[in-house]
Amino acid sequence: MFPLRLDLDAPAELDEHLHEVAFDLWARWHLEPEHARSIVESFVTDEDLHSPYSELHTHELPSYWAGHLYHRHVHGCGDDTCPPTGRSEALSPNPAALSQGSALLVSAQPTSTTTLLAEAAARRGLAVHELTDPAELQTLAGRDVYWYGGPRAALRAVRELKIGLLEPLDEWLTLLPHRFLGREIALSTLADAWRLTRPAFVKPPREKSLPAAVYADGTRLPRTGNELTPETAVLISEVVTFAVEYRLFVLDGEIVTGSRYAVYGRLDPAPLTGDPNEQAVREFFAALLPPPRTDSTVLTSLTSLTSLTALTAERMGTDRMGTGMIPSAFVLDVGLIESPDTGAQQWAVVEANMAWFAHCYAADPDRVLDVVLRSAGPLHRVAVNDFAYLRPIEATRMGPVPS
Ligand SMILES: [Zn+2]
Repeated sequence: MFPLRLDLDAPAELDEHLHEVAFDLWARWHLEPEHARSIVESFVTDEDLHSPYSELHTHELPSYWAGHLYHRHVHGCGDDTCPPTGRSEALSPNPAALSQGSALLVSAQPTSTTTLLAEAAARRGLAVHELTDPAELQTLAGRDVYWYGGPRAALRAVRELKIGLLEPLDEWLTLLPHRFLGREIALSTLADAWRLTRPAFVKPPREKSLPAAVYADGTRLPRTGNELTPETAVLISEVVTFAVEYRLFVLDGEIVTGSRYAVYGRLDPAPLTGDPNEQAVREFFAALLPPPRTDSTVLTSLTSLTSLTALTAERMGTDRMGTGMIPSAFVLDVGLIESPDTGAQQWAVVEANMAWFAHCYAADPDRVLDVVLRSAGPLHRVAVNDFAYLRPIEATRMGPVPS
């Protein structure tokens, strides 16, 4: 929760909501706690400021308010086109949309993907910087900076350079209808996983705090280390065999490039284009994801994940519940589940992940870069639809702040 006490004179429901807005300003928009507090406190008393939002009250996600308050108080804009809404040319990561002096910052431990993306970025006129010394961040201050690399290395850069990192919700997989999963998956805690009495595939939703693997039972899971606590979130899934797996780079609801990456669990990259399963993969994707969103507010104008889910179900039909709750740029892994007993096959979602730390395998690096630039770029260019998918800082790691 937000590390400072707020001094609000608001009805209880609004009060709770505003605490979440303050949390968002701090955790997702990287404001100092005092700054976030003063913005939210002035919001309650300032009639002029309050009026544009007065009809919204708690009918909007806190992330929606936080984003708008960020633009009003920090970005210093105020015209109708800011914050950006939905898809637009201004959001498209094409050369014309990149501001002068834009840079791609990459982590200091380069991978083969880092090298490919750095080359693609250079072709596009982006300056490429490697994060070798945190002091170098100052030299990039004030410029539009994009990120590729791990979340831990990103932590300081995203705060100092005001980079917004988009990622799917931890719950997304568990919200999908069974026919897109082909197996049981639950979001739970490490403590629950310790009590497993049968084999299960266990992984953290996003961090690599414990190895993603099949564990024979709960006793095989780590108990300590790597910031593990009994409350650490884990996804627990039924063990299945994937005959073949593909990585899809998704931008605005469309596959912009993709790659096969594994055959029967063994690394085996090949381009999606021309692959024997290309058509089947595209058909599965089309069934899974709704068409690109055009309504800029619908996904943010709700109070909670529960209402977000309900609205998605209403708009998409219950057979696609949950599928629309995804950022505009991410990677989707899909695979063909094969029954070891009957040989029966079914396409299924493996998982969804942040694009800014994804291996590109045999995908087209120039198109991968499009997705990376959207998923990890300047905070002020994050569109309204993506506010809810901004990665919060690791609040638990910050330690308690006195009120
Ligand atoms: Zn703005």
